[in-house]
Amino acid sequence: MKTLETFRGRHTELISLYIPSGHNIQEIMNMLKQEYALTQNVKSRTTRHNVLNALEKTMNHLRLFKKTPPNGLVIFCGNVSKTEGQPEIKLWSVEPPQPLAQKIYWCDQNFVLDPLKDMIREREVYGLIVIDTSGSDIGLLKGKKVILEKHIDSLVPGKTSKGGWSQQRYQRIREEAKNEHLKKTGEVASKIFSEEKDLKGVIIGGPGPLKERFKEGEYLDYRLQNKVLGVVDTSYTSIQGLQEIIQRGESLIQEASATKERHIMEEFFEHLKKDDGLSVYGLEEVEHALDYGAVKTLLISEGFNWTRAKLTCSCGYSVEKDVNLDRVEKCPKCGKEMTIEEEKDLIEMLSERAKSLGSEVEIISIDSREGEQFKEIGGIGAILRYKIV
Ligand SMILES: [Zn+2]
Repeated sequence: MKTLETFRGRHTELISLYIPSGHNIQEIMNMLKQEYALTQNVKSRTTRHNVLNALEKTMNHLRLFKKTPPNGLVIFCGNVSKTEGQPEIKLWSVEPPQPLAQKIYWCDQNFVLDPLKDMIREREVYGLIVIDTSGSDIGLLKGKKVILEKHIDSLVPGKTSKGGWSQQRYQRIREEAKNEHLKKTGEVASKIFSEEKDLKGVIIGGPGPLKERFKEGEYLDYRLQNKVLGVVDTSYTSIQGLQEIIQRGESLIQEASATKERHIMEEFFEHLKKDDGLSVYGLEEVEHALDYGAVKTLLISEGFNWTRAKLTCSCGYSVEKDVNLDRVEKCPKCGKEMTIEEEKDLIEMLSERAKSLGSEVEIISIDSREGEQFKEIGGIGAILRYKIV
């Protein structure tokens, strides 16, 4: 996505195609044929030429599919050359992580990336609880969206007794109702949160002191307890309260992911220092460890700049292999610079493979000293479950 974001077409010549899951692929093909016919009318010769080429390449790629993949398909294609007059038409094909609902065909000066970006962001989920004596609201933060999942009314009576009860007795009843409310909130929230398998953390908020009691009293399921990132003050309850949690809890979220990352990097470098064989780095070593199913945590740097590419040379030689985009690939036959014909998302492929083997996947930022160091040794590594030979 980062690479795609950097491309600016000279003209409106970059194609973004989003095919929803279950959509008839032949229908898309027909639409592209129509676009092809329309493009013949484009006045500028270079733009026309580039768009036609991109459309052809896209249609050729689509022919590889008998039907749309389960989650749909996204294709980006167009001239990404930085030199005028020397077009370089590239194609990226992505199978989205979740079922795609929108159909988009767009030809512009840049690629349409937002729907895909939102989808990726949505994989990060946080649990939110706003609680006070009047009630509680349980919600989820998915990507940028705050969703109110459940409102619970409390049965806690007001602060002062209206009936003929003694103040002492009244306080006791009130206390019991508070406990009930805390318990109920804990149960309902635990049920909602444990259904989210990508839950990164839980933040608790509310206007009064009950939120602290909720945290201290460990009312959440014990498996969720260590995901509690902290408690924040809010002025409101309900959906406004949940939104306030996000504003005020943002530092908690950032801190949590930074802390987790720091711990992982410490563990990784510790094994390297001890030379106990439980940390490996470099693409080949990591793939080897994946083959063994030995990877506990797969680590990929934000600065990891490799891709699985189909390379071609003007002499006719072609090969598919993993390449570092920072380097120039020379043809082994004639020594000329080869061009990337097609790219597959190596990070996505490695992550999917790791996940299917039960490994965790962590993207490591380059903001810390360790992160920077990690990038320098290749930007890919793994902490292993056991030593392999
Ligand atoms: Zn060659």
